[in-house]
Amino acid sequence: MIPYGRQSIDSDDIDSVTSALRSEFLTQGPRVGKFESSLGKAIQSPHVIAVSSATSALHLACLALEVGPGDMVWTSAISFAASANAARYCGAEVDFVDIELETFNMSVEDLEARLLRASIDGKLPKVVIPVHMAGQPCDMERIHMLGQEYGFAVIEDASHALGSTYNSRPTGSCEFSDVAVFSFHPVKMITTGEGGACATNSPIIAARIQRLRSHGITRDVGEMENPPHGPWYYEQLELGFNYRITDIQCALGESQLKKLSSFVRIRNEMAQRYDEALNVSGLNLPVVRHDRKSSFHLYIVRTEDESGVGRKQLFERLRTHGIQVNVHYLPIYRHPYYLRTGKYSPDSFPNAEKYYWSCISLPIYPDLTSSDQQKVLEALSMDVGFQTIF
Ligand SMILES: *Cc1c(COP(=O)(O)O)cnc(C)c1O
Repeated sequence: MIPYGRQSIDSDDIDSVTSALRSEFLTQGPRVGKFESSLGKAIQSPHVIAVSSATSALHLACLALEVGPGDMVWTSAISFAASANAARYCGAEVDFVDIELETFNMSVEDLEARLLRASIDGKLPKVVIPVHMAGQPCDMERIHMLGQEYGFAVIEDASHALGSTYNSRPTGSCEFSDVAVFSFHPVKMITTGEGGACATNSPIIAARIQRLRSHGITRDVGEMENPPHGPWYYEQLELGFNYRITDIQCALGESQLKKLSSFVRIRNEMAQRYDEALNVSGLNLPVVRHDRKSSFHLYIVRTEDESGVGRKQLFERLRTHGIQVNVHYLPIYRHPYYLRTGKYSPDSFPNAEKYYWSCISLPIYPDLTSSDQQKVLEALSMDVGFQTIF
């Protein structure tokens, strides 16, 4: 079986985790701060807070931006459900923005049209969460400008996009957002097993996320409401969570991070090979905008047929060849949890619908051998019936 994605673990990773296990700290020791500062350097961010998952990072980012009941949060129609769930955890309402068919990212034109309508109805979003689908950053400058005009904050869901750039600046530098969120789940760009992080340029947001990560407790005398009773003293200032990441996980993250640039390079080389070999296949290939570099977490092609029939056939036949292709994702509004509210109609997201019924994610990950990629291409050429130039 060739999966669509998987982790790449070498002996340096294993040594790094082993040394954490032999050390004094298993959780919240020196390796958490070290990983945060290494990640901060890699993404040019002054404040990085590592947490237990991207899902908890999204939740904390929403809370730090004061999202609560009565608020509206918008995200992309095509994403993993966690992008929307974060707002629901805070009691806010969720709505979706349609995508562009070339990049699978939030369509800025659709965002603008929806903002115009929402401003007339008085239902503007407090936060917009663009998702850097497959590893390609969204058009952040234009989203930021709309944020200035309509008064919303921006959380980048960069779960796919560690190692990508926009205008030559790394995703996570938050030039055009308030917070960026990363995932270290095994299929993502680097892994800590489970894990995630928030990056922000705001010391205030950073401090809030840090406090909420650990129960809302502070040990900082300057933040306390009462004079400390002694050196043991701490105070819980608000209702927080245990969303901490462990030293063991950060030991893995630290050693994975050293390989990030080679992971991104290898994934881009594989994407280029797919691009060249599939050029005449009749499949719609992913487009990367000239001012961006994708991390290529996913390589997604679309069948010409948008009814779902052609995609299903291709999917099933690739699976019978042992190629574990996948579909990313069911539009979030189609999940019963969201659909049964009656608030969302597939008709209002024509591109997300076309995308969903035609998309398929081909295997791409650093340890995919070139002979395995060849197998994928051969299986595709048999299925789609095109002449290959491998
Ligand atoms: C993987 C993913 C998440 C959630 O990441 P976890 O670390 O598993 O919580 C959120 N958003 C997107 C777009 C993802 O792909």
